[in-house]
Amino acid sequence: MLLEHLTRQRLEREASARVRRRRVAESPCAPRQVVEGAGGAEGVPRELLNFGSNDYLGLASHSAVVAALAEGAQRWGAGSGASYLVTGHSRAHARLEAELAERLSPWVPDARALLFCSGYMANLAVLTTLGTESAAIFADKLNHASLIDGGLLADARMRRYPHGRLDLLESMLRECAQPIRLIVTDAVFSMDGDVADLPALLDLAERHDAWLIIDDAHGFGVLGAQGEGALAHFGLRSERLIYMGTLGKAAGVAGAFVAAHPVVIDALVQGGRSYIYTTAMPPALAHALSASVALIAGDEGVLRRRQLAALTRTLRDRLAAIIARHPACGWQLAASDTPIQALIVGDNAAALALAAALDAQGLWVPAIRPPTVPVGSARLRITLSAAHTLDDVHRLCDALEVLASAPIATGDIA
Ligand SMILES: *Cc1c(COP(=O)(O)O)cnc(C)c1O
Repeated sequence: MLLEHLTRQRLEREASARVRRRRVAESPCAPRQVVEGAGGAEGVPRELLNFGSNDYLGLASHSAVVAALAEGAQRWGAGSGASYLVTGHSRAHARLEAELAERLSPWVPDARALLFCSGYMANLAVLTTLGTESAAIFADKLNHASLIDGGLLADARMRRYPHGRLDLLESMLRECAQPIRLIVTDAVFSMDGDVADLPALLDLAERHDAWLIIDDAHGFGVLGAQGEGALAHFGLRSERLIYMGTLGKAAGVAGAFVAAHPVVIDALVQGGRSYIYTTAMPPALAHALSASVALIAGDEGVLRRRQLAALTRTLRDRLAAIIARHPACGWQLAASDTPIQALIVGDNAAALALAAALDAQGLWVPAIRPPTVPVGSARLRITLSAAHTLDDVHRLCDALEVLASAPIATGDIA
């Protein structure tokens, strides 16, 4: 019965072009990456130009970060051995937490920071610990899956407002009878690349006695003069801010942290189930992350963010020009100034066909389909890294220009 049920589900996925596949990389995360044959087909591994990772600053294989990871392993061994509250919390973790708290303290006064093994787990801990029965959660509809899951697991009722509709959020806040109110939002929306209006959200939080929980998975390391993230980008400062940054994207390693008021952090240590009931991050990773966080804040981080911004402008200008020259292609470029650039195609099969056509030319751009994005908005999610060159961006755009002028037969792109 189970197998029949799952097989039926699988066939439905195939019929709606929603099957997901993993590809085996044979070399480290980098713009040029050796990957097994296309589309699950057997084949000789090939080098592809990768436009799909979240390694925005190119730190995942940066020599200083890799060296720090090796040094961390020499010093601390391979694993942490236990959860944080048992015996797994080390000086390497404590030091990284102190460094992260210091980075965020201009924006979150008196901030303490708490490390998690992943952003997914951090979001579950924040929403389930703060979202008690006496709380209400208000969430943007395009928030990341981990925030949705955290809200569903929480005892608080979660209400979702249409993307960016702060007028509707305000009516919800006005009607709210719960004494604790939590507004939760992605800072940079992960599939569109647009940035939430955090100043307006904080203003709403202040006027309606709410707290603002910010998921800055794609902003930490990328936004702000020193890569401190979305709060620095907007120059926001408030005790009401609860900040979550991830360490596997721009920081190039793995894990996440929450920076917030000491009382909030203590509540997470005492009651956050996805903090308590899991083995601590290997201390070697924390050691490597200290190197990565220093790089992000230093001159090299500044140069890498400058390169990333130049690449982003070039990509956007060229994509806009391509769409203008070939309106029949039906593509739309989502509004975004971040290294996440979404080329919305619409139809699932058409997005897959476009990704396959790029793959045939050695370009690796993931096609993102529902349920990750709303039905009818399947897209190429193009992400840039400071490790890309301008020539890389032009190569991608040259290929897209040809594909825009001669739509692919599969699916209905137009
Ligand atoms: C990637 C991501 C997460 C999850 O972070 P991980 O460390 O990968 O678990 C959470 N929120 C957003 C917006 C993300 O893009």
